[in-house]
Amino acid sequence: MLCGIVKLSDHARFNTVCIHAGQTPDPATGAIITPIYQTSTYVQEALGVHKGYEYARTQNPTRSALEANLAAIENGKAGFCFASGMAATGAVMTLLSSGDHIVVTDNTYGGTYRLFERVLRKYQLDFTYVDTSSLGELERAIRPNTKLVFLETPTNPVLGVTDLEGACTIAHGHAIPVVVDNTFASPYVQRPIDFGADMVIHSTTKFLNGHSDSVGGAVIATRDDHIEWLRFVQNAEGAILGPMDAWLVLRGTKTLPIRMERHNANAMVLAEYLESHPKVTAVHYPGLPSHPQHRLAARQMRGFGGLIAFKAGSFERARTVLNSVRLMALAESLGGVETLISHPATMTHASVPAERRQQLGITDDLVRISVGIEDVEDLKEDLAQALDRA
Ligand SMILES: *Cc1c(COP(=O)(O)O)cnc(C)c1O
Repeated sequence: MLCGIVKLSDHARFNTVCIHAGQTPDPATGAIITPIYQTSTYVQEALGVHKGYEYARTQNPTRSALEANLAAIENGKAGFCFASGMAATGAVMTLLSSGDHIVVTDNTYGGTYRLFERVLRKYQLDFTYVDTSSLGELERAIRPNTKLVFLETPTNPVLGVTDLEGACTIAHGHAIPVVVDNTFASPYVQRPIDFGADMVIHSTTKFLNGHSDSVGGAVIATRDDHIEWLRFVQNAEGAILGPMDAWLVLRGTKTLPIRMERHNANAMVLAEYLESHPKVTAVHYPGLPSHPQHRLAARQMRGFGGLIAFKAGSFERARTVLNSVRLMALAESLGGVETLISHPATMTHASVPAERRQQLGITDDLVRISVGIEDVEDLKEDLAQALDRA
């Protein structure tokens, strides 16, 4: 192999794993950073004699380094990187066959809902959406043909929390594997595999890359049968992450822990500020004691993440806030160092039917903030002046 994979001691701690796992100095030059191997193919020394790399859809050293890095960060056995978070989710769903049934967290990411309902139903996959923060509802949704439990916690955008250990125990009691979309929390905040999950999905576009300059996805797996299939399908379907993006995400994961500490701290301050604001009618943040699953979140998460949602009282007020912020950027996406503010009902969740949005609490007055790592006093002042106008 061109880029040997560092076998860190089993005792290496989280920050060390983030910085070092999957990477060794470049064997050709000693470059400390894994190069961007921008190549489509690899020259073979003789017929059938090569260094483990034949064609760049199948293997790329920059991507391999990131895959090993993410596998270690999530405490899995192997990682697979894809062109986007949705491509990663699509790859996981190829583990299923027509006629299979999947239980899904009800307010899952809008793009996931669209993939399941508009694309995968055409292939006779059946989905039931339940509030998985209730383990009873999860268990009642399981059928004889249920072949996967697909969880997201905390959820986007209302930040419902699912008991990962409890959900995995129930699913495994029925011999059903569990996959968790861990994009919202990031592996600093929670590691689903530690609670029993079989696979983790990420949109690396968000906290893992962290700098709003790359789109990508990853699956981290633990079971040999899943690993074998994911490696096969990554190559067979070919929705791979390119080397430049792999390099950017590798740079991002080195600072994941210190970024997450600041995301957590800033979000907590803003959530408390918003909860005390007379014009705000509700705040969703797992770190607030008023959150219905606050105690579970405190057990399961390290800090409470960088996402907040709040109700401005009316659509008009929400619009005024969104149009009045100066420092926060009005944009979809999340997890970057800069604070983004958005309107889920018309932006990220526009593809979810209006009636379903209401059921999920994605009301027209709901505003979501992806809290960045700026000085929190500046963020507070920005919200204050925007709320003053509302
Ligand atoms: C963004 C996101 C996705 C999709 O990822 P892309 O990289 O945009 O394809 C999936 N799940 C969650 C929770 C997300 O936030």
